Amino acid sequence: MADTLVVDLEKRFPGGPTVRAALELRATPGRVAVLFGPSGAGKTTVLRCLAGLERAERGRILFHGEPWWDAAARVDLPPQRRRVGYLFQDYALFPHLTAEQNVQYGLAHLPAAERRERSRSLFSLLRLEGLEGRGPRELSGGQQQRVALARALAIRPRLLLLDEPLSALDAPSREQLRGELRRMLRELGVPTVVVTHDRLEALALGDDLVAMEGGRVCQVGPVADVFNHPVELAVARMTGIETVLPGKVLRREEGLATVAVGPHHLTALEPSLGGDTVFVCIRAEDVTLGPPESSPTSARNRLPCTVVSLSLEGALVRVALDAGFPLVARVTRFSCEELGLAEGKPVTATFKAPSVRLV
Ligand code: ADP
Ligand code: MG
Repeated sequence: MADTLVVDLEKRFPGGPTVRAALELRATPGRVAVLFGPSGAGKTTVLRCLAGLERAERGRILFHGEPWWDAAARVDLPPQRRRVGYLFQDYALFPHLTAEQNVQYGLAHLPAAERRERSRSLFSLLRLEGLEGRGPRELSGGQQQRVALARALAIRPRLLLLDEPLSALDAPSREQLRGELRRMLRELGVPTVVVTHDRLEALALGDDLVAMEGGRVCQVGPVADVFNHPVELAVARMTGIETVLPGKVLRREEGLATVAVGPHHLTALEPSLGGDTVFVCIRAEDVTLGPPESSPTSARNRLPCTVVSLSLEGALVRVALDAGFPLVARVTRFSCEELGLAEGKPVTATFKAPSVRLV
């Protein structure tokens, strides 16, 4: 209770969708929860309700045991009393103010010396020294993002809310700033909720993940758990699993399940779910390719395939295969060359039982 953020809300947009979210997150210093899902999932709506910028119809929000909002009890703390730092998707810096004035904007109630001291330490922490007098238009995307972050932090927030913090940047700076933002968030020691639709961003930034789709929460848990054990199809897809096939469980014994998929029988770890009609999810990175006549390995699943197509993805190659069903593998360029992979060539695909996820 003491270190949690409890959200339980239902927000209806007139003539539009309803966003429902019930979740409990640990909100300890430097811990980052990611609201992750495709556009329209309801991520921004939840974030705005947390900030008090938007109100839901039903439910409550508790931060460290303190009610911030409770529809039934008619509690509704105004944004400034919640003391949240909010980073808008487009940064929303005031164009007519300098970087320093932007950062000091929410500090009008403080003596001038204190205002200056706070912005000075944030400019140094976020490596913005020398840019104090510049207007937002004279800053790069990455600098604007850091100024907006400094402004969100200037009020010494109890909770930091970041809406798609890197989406306004072009790809090279986005990659670089992903790691940097993660480091900054750990150092700042403020519990943080980040909204993103980007898988790599979710993986890089999050401790906990809230997978959302179509206005509802699909799964909540530590990031690695959600990526490794998606509980439903929507989450499997959003976490980047490209091979998703309907299957039927034929047998369960000794912790393993035998599943019929197309013409093959695959071995998966025995899932806790009941029912025999399942979706089989196989992550491309978990599939190993070998020559057609390769000798068996310890991997439980071994399928003769034909290469359908190859596409370069930087140092990796995405290999679309025909295994009697469509299967995707991702291998290094080196192994692609070593195996002489080309369209129409035969190849053996192997993957272990734990790589076959059933949902
Ligand atoms: P996300 O941030 O995950 O993309 P949003 O929270 O912005 O999703 O939106 C969730 C859903 O609610 C979407 O279908 C969106 O169109 C709808 N929505 C958001 N804001 C409004 C609004 N002010 N009026 C009507 N519908 C809205
Ligand atoms: Mg959004």
